[in-house]
Amino acid sequence: MEKVCIYHLTLDELKNKLISEDFPAYRAQQVFDWIYRKGVSDFSFMSNISKREREKLSGIFEFINFEIMSKRKSADGTEKFLFKLRDDLSIETVVIPEKRRNTLCLSTQVGCKFNCRFCVSARGGFIRNLETSEIIKQYLDVSRAAEITNIVFMGIGEPLDNFSNLVKSIRILKAKEGAGMPARRLTVSTCGLPKAIKKLAGLKLGVKLSVSLHSAYDEKRDKIMPVNRRYPLGVLLDSLKEFSKVSRYPVTFEYVMIKGFNVSLEDARRLAKFCNSLKSKVNLIPLNLSRGGLDKPDEPDISKFRDKLKRHGCLAVLRKPRGEDIEAACGQLRASLGAKKPF
Ligand code: SF4
Repeated sequence: MEKVCIYHLTLDELKNKLISEDFPAYRAQQVFDWIYRKGVSDFSFMSNISKREREKLSGIFEFINFEIMSKRKSADGTEKFLFKLRDDLSIETVVIPEKRRNTLCLSTQVGCKFNCRFCVSARGGFIRNLETSEIIKQYLDVSRAAEITNIVFMGIGEPLDNFSNLVKSIRILKAKEGAGMPARRLTVSTCGLPKAIKKLAGLKLGVKLSVSLHSAYDEKRDKIMPVNRRYPLGVLLDSLKEFSKVSRYPVTFEYVMIKGFNVSLEDARRLAKFCNSLKSKVNLIPLNLSRGGLDKPDEPDISKFRDKLKRHGCLAVLRKPRGEDIEAACGQLRASLGAKKPF
């Protein structure tokens, strides 16, 4: 019988599997406690389970391991882990420390299909989805080194393009018997896939949503985010309104500021109109490095843009990029988690 990776399973799935194998249902809670609270990855250490049952569990389940290929710390404390998967592919996971929190940025795919122009992480194209267990294992390995308070699905890949494994990972991380991450501390970051956003809304998981916007004009967004040609802003907005109806939290828009491209006062007015049509806030992220022929705007243009948004009643925060010296950013997106300068 092929063994099941235990990190694949939600608490309910584990319970059902254990019941079918003649274990009492409460063993599932005990196993979750050992794995997600005590950090154990070997049944032989689960001392409140009998030796006979531990041996039986070892015959049914397995624990996967990652090899840490590298671990680099940036001058600002941001830490990047490069993990080698069982098929020799590699993924990145980043921890971003702030004053009162440590945010973990999880990858959900190896590569990405969406080809955003400012993104360096996914230049090699899409290779495969990560399994639920591979998403969870990033959390388990990093949480040994740092106490994680917040999680964003904002690493390599588009989380909503790996929908079922994303949702299972969220359910596993939320389980009170295990990691117990409150839903409000989990954020799904997307380039804007309307059907999946609606599906996520329907599940009412309570997680937050962050959308890479970068322009409120279709013609401009088309140029830097090819996904917009398939799902233009009007279609995206409808799905976000649906998500907003079931969410207690504002949708966050990530807006990378690019010189001569999306930082005119007209861009700001249009952005404010778009954002004011639902409960939302904006993270303004001046492009940190020149790439793909794109440059950072001048400081006065950043201030004027910010002021214009404010005058239009749009809630916006200027963010600093983090982890630049260790190339910790997924495009510019991860920069949005950096130190904030509200106005
Ligand atoms: S920014 Fe995100 S969605 Fe866009 S190509 Fe990069 S990984 Fe994919």
